[in-house]
Order: sequence, then C-alpha cells, then structure tokens
Amino acid sequence: MTRPEQEGFVLWFTGLSGAGKTTIAKALEPILRERGLRVERLDGDIVRQSLTRDLGFSKEDRYTNIERVTFVAKLLSRNGVAVLASFISPYRDMRARVRREVTNFIEVYVSTPVEVCAQRDVKGLYARAFAGEIPNFTGVSDPYEPPENPEIVLPAHELSVEECVATVLSYLEERGLVPRAEPELATVNLSPGGKG
Ligand code: ADP
Repeated sequence: MTRPEQEGFVLWFTGLSGAGKTTIAKALEPILRERGLRVERLDGDIVRQSLTRDLGFSKEDRYTNIERVTFVAKLLSRNGVAVLASFISPYRDMRARVRREVTNFIEVYVSTPVEVCAQRDVKGLYARAFAGEIPNFTGVSDPYEPPENPEIVLPAHELSVEECVATVLSYLEERGLVPRAEPELATVNLSPGGKG
C-alpha cells in the first residue's frame, strides 16, 4: 500500500520576544522528521538576516517582513512541507492574512507574559527596551495583539519545552497531519497465535 501524500501545514508560532517560539520549534523539528515529514523552519531572526535584511521594525516593515515570509510558507505548505514558522507577528490582521494564504494554517500562541520574557532576557534586549533605547520593542514600546482563537496555546512559562512539544504533536496527530509514532517492537506480540 502506498502511503498517502503528506499534506503540508504551517505551524505559526506567535508571541513576544523570548516567549519560546524558536526553542519549541527547534525541539519539534527532529521529531517531525523522524515521523517521515519534510520540514522547513522559518525563523524571524534568521529571515531578517537574509530574505528581509533590508527591513526594520516600523509597522510597515513588520507587515512587509511577514508578507514575504508568507509567500515562502505558501509555496512550501502547498507542496506537502511541514513549515515551522517563528515570528513575533504582533498584529491580528497580519496573522489573519497568513491564514488566508497558506495551506493548513495552525496558530500557536506562545503566551509567556512580558514579565517572564523580560526576566529571561535571552538577547539582552528587554533591559535596553525598558531603558528607552529601543523605540519599537514589542510588548514594551510597541503593541502585541494576542490571538483570539488560536488553534493551540502554549503557556511556556508554566510548561516545560517537552510538554509544549507534546501538546503540539498531539494536536497534529488528532488532525491526521502527522502519523502517530510506531509502537515499540518489544511491546507488539508477533507470535502466530498471539492475540496482540
Ligand atoms: P523566541 O523565539 O520566542 O524569541 P526563544 O526560544 O529564543 O524565544 O527563547 C526562549 C527562552 O526561554 C530560551 O532561553 C529557552 O531556553 C527558555 N525557556 C524556558 N522554558 C521554556 C519553555 N517551556 N518553552 C520554550 N522556551 C523556554
């Protein structure tokens, strides 16, 4: 029996800087590959060094950034690729546009609050933003509009990375977008008279 073609999808991780979008997407990537999926990860920080390196953080540039990324995600997802996209993408209508464009858009809200993100301050940016040195910093000096009906919410300040990954995986399995893990051979009764 031939396996049905993999259906593409876009896991769109949105949330504040330092919320955990990249960390969770990175942890998910090898697991999806093990399950036989073709995976591409699109990450804000990386994309901004290449495809959109000419852009800054004004509202207009943020829209253009997401617009270009959406184009890539659209091509990939319609060709059966699992896309893991991590972008702050602070505006609701911006994310609604992505939803309309790509195949199987799944909004994943990484809901870590600003206080926790600021405490983590992975890139040292919050300290500078609170000191007034970064004028357009999301959650401090620039807006973030939380999703109203996301497919998945990950409170990454309360859950471990593993728990976040497991939550996403079971959602994908439930939707039939990812095959369930093969059972361990040791647990399967292969003897001829075995009843399983
Ligand atoms: P973002 O991509 O949203 O800007 P990052 O993934 O770069 O955020 O940074 C998140 C930081 O929070 C990392 O240092 C990560 O180790 C830490 N962290 C702690 N708990 C979690 C969790 N449950 N999920 C994701 N990241 C977590």
